[in-house]
Amino acid sequence: MEAYLDNSATTRCTESVRDAVVRAMMEDYGNPSSRHQKGLDAERSLREARETLARTLRVSEKEIYFTSGATESNNWALIGAAAANRRAGMHLITTAIEHPAVLMPMQYLQEQGFRVTYLPVDSAGQISLDDLEQAICDDTILVSIMYVNNEVGAIEPIAEAGKRIRARNPRILFHVDAVQAYGKMPVYPKTLGVDMLSASAHKIHGPKGIGFLYINERVKIHPLLLGGGQQKGMRSGTDNVPGAVGLAQAAKEAYANLEEERRHFLELKRRLMEGLAALPQVVIHSQPGEQGAAHIVSAAFPGVRSEVLLHALEERGVYVSAGSACSSNKKQPVSAVLKELHLRPELLESTLRFSFGRFTTAEEIDYCLQTLAQLLPVLRRYTRH
Ligand code: PLP
Repeated sequence: MEAYLDNSATTRCTESVRDAVVRAMMEDYGNPSSRHQKGLDAERSLREARETLARTLRVSEKEIYFTSGATESNNWALIGAAAANRRAGMHLITTAIEHPAVLMPMQYLQEQGFRVTYLPVDSAGQISLDDLEQAICDDTILVSIMYVNNEVGAIEPIAEAGKRIRARNPRILFHVDAVQAYGKMPVYPKTLGVDMLSASAHKIHGPKGIGFLYINERVKIHPLLLGGGQQKGMRSGTDNVPGAVGLAQAAKEAYANLEEERRHFLELKRRLMEGLAALPQVVIHSQPGEQGAAHIVSAAFPGVRSEVLLHALEERGVYVSAGSACSSNKKQPVSAVLKELHLRPELLESTLRFSFGRFTTAEEIDYCLQTLAQLLPVLRRYTRH
């Protein structure tokens, strides 16, 4: 048996996404910039994909830009908006638990002379709105806060943060990395007071290498990629029509089944958390039920290093991650996010993340729990004290 519990790293495509991508590659293969019928057909597919995404967010299709994924979306939102607004101020705010696709551009901007405030989080992984309010100053031009943390599943108070930012200064731009929220919960930027929002297809059963950045029409932002002038000159590069069509299909399916999927995830989460709590010495970091994301459970197994447990599980067909797979090329997998939760060192080094997707079953959860129950006593016996 196999249990793929690493859906926050990436997901398997659905068959209808695959069919849509293949159709775009084999039939609608024209370049949307070409002025003949093949080009016009491809342009129509691109426009329909953009309209589908805009409907899921309740925004205008003019505000959707395709990118190569959320890493590009985040880089563009932060670097592009900082460059376009530097005359208004040089101060940026983010959280200490962002994905590296936000933290690294922030570090780059610091090197360019911007000042960055990193908001701390509590033991549940949430920022304090008072800290946010206190951090805002006359020089602040941009705030970037993730919607759902990819390692522990903490949900940040985005709507409240949007309100507080607007109340202090409506000209401050608010960017949200919604990679782990989009397709899992309703996300309406205009209601939330969000000016820019990043999402990625491969987290919602779409293809890899495609995502989007929502940019409110009022936002001043510089392009990062210059060239042939595609996407109104804001993001040059031949349009990835198969990717865009696949992303739109995945988004359509995610939002058509939102409530059903949410209930499915909550049931899997309850089953996994109860099973983990029944194992000796397990410490669960994620908040139960709807207090945290329904599809992410993070837990520590003191006495066993996460890498060792991960590979022992893998040998038995159980796939999970230590920290987050998308940011863990480093040899030492101690996570910066978990450090921010002020966990004891033995918890930091023994944490695994379990994450669900549409295809995850209760049988997979049970198989994972049984395998953990067999492995943990054996592996703990070999740990040096
Ligand atoms: N932001 C978050 C919260 C993520 O979880 C990820 C990927 O895991 C990314 C950004 C990067 O997305 P992409 O793989 O589309 O570049």
